[in-house]
Amino acid sequence: MSGNIRSKGISTRAIHAGEDRRSSTGASAPDLVMSSTFLIDEEVSFSATNLDADSPYIYTRWSNPTTAQLEEKLAVLEQAEEAIATASGMGATTAVLLQFLSHGDHLIISSTNYPGTAEFARQSLPRFGVSVTPVDTRDPGNIENAIRSETKMIWLETPSNPLLRLADIAAAAKLATQQGALLVVDSTFATPIATRPIALGADLVVHSLTKYIGGHGDAMGGAICGSRSLISELRGEALTHYGAVISPFNAWLIMRGMATLPMRMRAHQENALLVAEFLENHPNVEAVIYPGVESHPQHALAKQQMDNFSGMVSFRVADSKKVAERMMSDLEVIHYAVSLGHHRSLIYLMQTEDLIESSYQLEGEALDDYLATAGDGLFRLSVGLEDPSDLCEDLDRVL
Ligand SMILES: *Cc1c(COP(=O)(O)O)cnc(C)c1O
Repeated sequence: MSGNIRSKGISTRAIHAGEDRRSSTGASAPDLVMSSTFLIDEEVSFSATNLDADSPYIYTRWSNPTTAQLEEKLAVLEQAEEAIATASGMGATTAVLLQFLSHGDHLIISSTNYPGTAEFARQSLPRFGVSVTPVDTRDPGNIENAIRSETKMIWLETPSNPLLRLADIAAAAKLATQQGALLVVDSTFATPIATRPIALGADLVVHSLTKYIGGHGDAMGGAICGSRSLISELRGEALTHYGAVISPFNAWLIMRGMATLPMRMRAHQENALLVAEFLENHPNVEAVIYPGVESHPQHALAKQQMDNFSGMVSFRVADSKKVAERMMSDLEVIHYAVSLGHHRSLIYLMQTEDLIESSYQLEGEALDDYLATAGDGLFRLSVGLEDPSDLCEDLDRVL
């Protein structure tokens, strides 16, 4: 479907956007084209930098007919001009950071976020001469104070891993525009169902498709959404030369998962609210963090910026390592495993010691602040689509 698909409702867009009706077989489902190369019937340039939207398919590292359908679906749901899919969320993250930051540039990034992103920013980027300032992005004033003349990019993750802190995207967008810096938002926890960062002024949106968008825990993928000019820069350099290309099979699986994203997100939110309330009333639970409940310190911003509170709930208990051991052996429904956003519920203990040392390197006030919320560890629960009463029963058994 093409034409006015962008004016349709979100459920219609999730199902039909990007799907190519011109299949040579008349198939209703998208074609899965596993070919790495394509027959050429006219002379084409071999340099990826000369490719444009009208170029034929040449080689799957540059573009592929199945992946192209997923990319169009992503762009339409994110309200972006274009999107590219990558092999993983980290493939998308590193593509953006390496494409748009050069020696001498400065990056401002959320001080706590996805550990892979945090470690790449702190450990790898400085090797290329990029300086990095992690700040608590809950307060836009902290971003403003960190801006200097070399600041080229502001990177937000909202809600963030694992503390579920929010950042005000519109406020950060104003600061980025004043500075002439790019605003990038990792919107993996929110999904395009909850938040459309482009409409709020972000330049680029990054997703791990491995999580909610794919939604079934069977395919890794990532995505970057943004303007035609930024995405074509990424396609010409980062995608084709850094090489984190998604398999067309994974693109096909993720597209199938994406068709049900709006209804899955409604169910994730409904279940997460019930589980968060159950945990808040549980005598052995010390703290519950969920943007959808009044007790979340940024609940007002969540209501303003999110159309759906998503399915991520973090909570703290005493003696968390013992509880984690019980979870590994005694949970019947919930899987004790990393990752999130699947139809299956997943839970994992995010140990403070590990995160502070390896990922966040927090000190002083920032460290005190982290410890006050997380103690020696937070359980990160990705509330799935099972019956919520079974999830609560499972949790009750191990808490
Ligand atoms: C999982 C995740 C990533 C990385 O995605 P992969 O697909 O695992 O590479 C990045 N950001 C966030 C917020 C994530 O949850």
